[in-house]
Amino acid sequence: MRTFKALWMGVGVWVTALTLRAADRFPRPDFKTDYVSPDLLLPGARGPLLEWLDVAVLAAALALAGWLAIRNRSRRGLVLLTLFSLGYFGFWRRGCVCAVGAVQNLALGWADASCAIPLTVIAFFVLPLLATLLVGRVFCASVCPLGAIQELALWRPIKTPIWLNHTLGLLPWGYLSVAVLFAATGAGFLICEWDPFVGFFRLGAPFHLAVTGALFLLASLFIGRPYCRFACPYGAILGLLSRVSRRHTTITPDACVQCRLCEDACPYGAIRSPLPAAAPESRATGVRRLALILAAVPLIAVAAAATGYFFGNLLSRAHPRVALALEIHRDAAQPMSLEREAFFTSGRATVALDAEARAIQRRFAVGGVFLGALLALTVGAQLIGLALWRSRTDYEPDRARCFSCGRCFAYCPVGRKRKESPK
Ligand code: SF4
Ligand code: SF4
Repeated sequence: MRTFKALWMGVGVWVTALTLRAADRFPRPDFKTDYVSPDLLLPGARGPLLEWLDVAVLAAALALAGWLAIRNRSRRGLVLLTLFSLGYFGFWRRGCVCAVGAVQNLALGWADASCAIPLTVIAFFVLPLLATLLVGRVFCASVCPLGAIQELALWRPIKTPIWLNHTLGLLPWGYLSVAVLFAATGAGFLICEWDPFVGFFRLGAPFHLAVTGALFLLASLFIGRPYCRFACPYGAILGLLSRVSRRHTTITPDACVQCRLCEDACPYGAIRSPLPAAAPESRATGVRRLALILAAVPLIAVAAAATGYFFGNLLSRAHPRVALALEIHRDAAQPMSLEREAFFTSGRATVALDAEARAIQRRFAVGGVFLGALLALTVGAQLIGLALWRSRTDYEPDRARCFSCGRCFAYCPVGRKRKESPK
């Protein structure tokens, strides 16, 4: 009986070890030449058990971040969790799998039925969205490694004007549109290719990424989370959901006493001051402006759709198949690229490549129209939101822009008093 048990345990350990060793299932090809395989910067594949461990860590970190931001109101706890996330999801997992880039996997899986998306990637995309719907952007607060590196780098924050925040705040939507278009058409994963911080996590990056990363990190010393606020495509979606979250971080745990101490506490320009009940202009002027915006939105949407069609065509040149088709029709006297040489060696007909390239260009154009219109509607919704006058009696976080970082907690005398004498 004892031998039987030992045998079963041995089989169990062996199966587990095989599952965990998924990274080495396929040996690298042997070219029988002097070719030396380069060191890979990308993290290797993980076995299913470890992938699900990542999901479990993500879920636990989100739950803890929500508790620290809403119930415990502990900036120190959030910072400690930020350090852990930077270590685990950043340096240990080397920035992959990542919720920020997962939107591309979903776009590709949606557009190409032959492309399967692992359940763990879907979980990485969905869990932070669900957490945001419940308690606001706690993923950004202390779970996302990209946010973490910027949060910890902030040194001497300078205030950026509100109009600039709002204008630059539209950039993530544009980036999201282009990234989804690229992923859905198979042109590439832009968000991953241009992730500015992944080079730090992997301790190595191609030149363009090293420069982008250095610039963003330098900017993060003085401008609060520049990537999060003005570039992150996932942050755009999180901001939208955070507007309607069930609960959200508050500056004060109790009634606001209007002491104005927190007014300048937020390095991200996410604190909104009280507004009087009546607008500083007549009601008729406000209604006229709103009517004007409502009339302009469909026109902007049509113009944006046309622009999207034009840019879709232009962007399609970045797709490797389209680029190859264009290259083949260019001056044949030009030096032969490796791709062109490989194509001719394969013996494939040029007409087949042309047809494939035209189909890709059509997909880019249609996607460009759709995403252009969507982008215009987003801008329209923002303009309508700005045009509507809503009175506010307290200092409160702007739900879309607040990262639930907890920096403002310490500024509120009501909160400090409660911390010092919890009873
Ligand atoms: S905004 Fe984007 S990069 Fe910044 S913390 Fe949130 S998800 Fe991460
Ligand atoms: S928690 Fe406070 S300091 Fe942090 S982003 Fe929100 S409003 Fe700004």
